Amino acid sequence: MRRAGLIVAETLRGLRSMVEPGVTTRQLDAYAEKKIRSAGAYPTFKGYRGFPASICASVNDEVVHGIPSDRKLRDGDIIKIDCGATLDGYVGDAAISIPVGGISSEIEKLLQVTRESLFKALEKMIPGNRLYDVSYAVQEHVEDRGYSIVREFCGHGVGQRMHEDPQVPNYGRPGTGPKLKEGWVLAVEPMVNAGSHEVKILPDGWTVKTKDGRASSHFEHTIAVTGNGPMVLTALDDGSMVL
Ligand code: MG
Ligand code: MG
Repeated sequence: MRRAGLIVAETLRGLRSMVEPGVTTRQLDAYAEKKIRSAGAYPTFKGYRGFPASICASVNDEVVHGIPSDRKLRDGDIIKIDCGATLDGYVGDAAISIPVGGISSEIEKLLQVTRESLFKALEKMIPGNRLYDVSYAVQEHVEDRGYSIVREFCGHGVGQRMHEDPQVPNYGRPGTGPKLKEGWVLAVEPMVNAGSHEVKILPDGWTVKTKDGRASSHFEHTIAVTGNGPMVLTALDDGSMVL
């Protein structure tokens, strides 16, 4: 899983350096597919329940599951890229939100709070803690700062399949839920809206958008619970997280 995760991390790092005004989300998808396949892996998303591309590319008020297209990124946009790779039967899954050119300080704050909430979750990923301790860590950090948590989508266990039990909601009651065990691997992925938590699915059957049209932010990493603390399987070679 670490080797699969490293491919995801390196792909996201490459994508981040490509993002600038004028680039299309289809170009980003093509880069990702090539990068993943050249590493000997398979782009997990491609064909997943019929999804047509190797990454999800969601812009501004699109929350998750956006389909790459000829849409050109514009100065001031944010793009959320979600990426998965399967290597030797194991999956890595991670996502980042990337500013396009210059973004407003309001949007930068939204991204920063979302990143921080992922770290808050990570701190709770200790054997013996309860699953919803992780969930609540995200919720508390986000809601205390006036943002809202998307309810309809959540993190998940990950292993030989991308989506395994348990579901990892970004909200919940601390001290409840199953006990975390050494060896568990969870994809933790706060989806945070600037306005209301409500979302809708577009007629393409995939793209999730905020109902109020305000911005949304998403970060995700695949994280293992170990006796030595949380281990980020989608980190770069030097252990740092693409964020
Ligand atoms: Mg993902
Ligand atoms: Mg995921």
